[in-house]
This record gives sequence, C-alpha cells and structure tokens, in this order.
Amino acid sequence: MVSEMPQKHKQYDLYTFVAGAALEKGEPFPLKCNCGGVVTIMPPFQDEYVICPGCESRIRMLVIEGDPGYIIGRTSEGELTLLPVQGSSKSHPDALSQEEREAILSDIKAKLLKEKK
Ligand SMILES: [Zn+2]
Repeated sequence: MVSEMPQKHKQYDLYTFVAGAALEKGEPFPLKCNCGGVVTIMPPFQDEYVICPGCESRIRMLVIEGDPGYIIGRTSEGELTLLPVQGSSKSHPDALSQEEREAILSDIKAKLLKEKK
C-alpha cells in the first residue's frame, strides 16, 4: 500500500543564506539565484524574501550573523557540505580548492565527533 504524501503549501521556491554584516553595512549587494539571475539587495532590507527577475522564484533569505563566507550544511544524502553565504566579503566556498574544502570539512567532522562524547 502506498501512502500519499500530504501536499504542503509551498511558500518559497528557494532558500539562501545572507551575511548579516552585508545588511548592516547598508550597501547594495548582488544576490544570485540558482538560475543565474541576480537580484540587487538594497538595505535596509525589510522583507524576508526577494523575487528573482530571471525565473520569478521566491527566494527566502536566511540571515546568518556576522560575515561568514559559508556555513556548514548537509546534502540530501546526509553528507556535510559547505553552503555559500551571499553578500559576505569572504570568499565563496566554490573559490576554495578541493584540498581546502576537504580540510575544513574534516576539521568539522572531528569537532562533531568530539561533541558527541
Ligand atoms: Zn532565478
């Protein structure tokens, strides 16, 4: 027997992380959409989402305190990954070399293992 998944009301199409420092600075910054479209964010920013001019996705902005270039997330497979934080002055995780990314991730994995004890 197959159970039906309840159809959830989709409020947003995409989620992205934004550096809190970028909003505090009060200068416009580009927010990139998955489709390649760019939305210019003009602080002070009051809304919690923006609409992409390219694909009309509703992009929910999740503000991360400070100015991190990335945060740690998990893929749908449960693997640790680096998620870019937009508007940050730090380099995008894609700008890191494979070695740097692996060094950061193994560092985090080691910390997580320690915390479990
Ligand atoms: Zn888009």
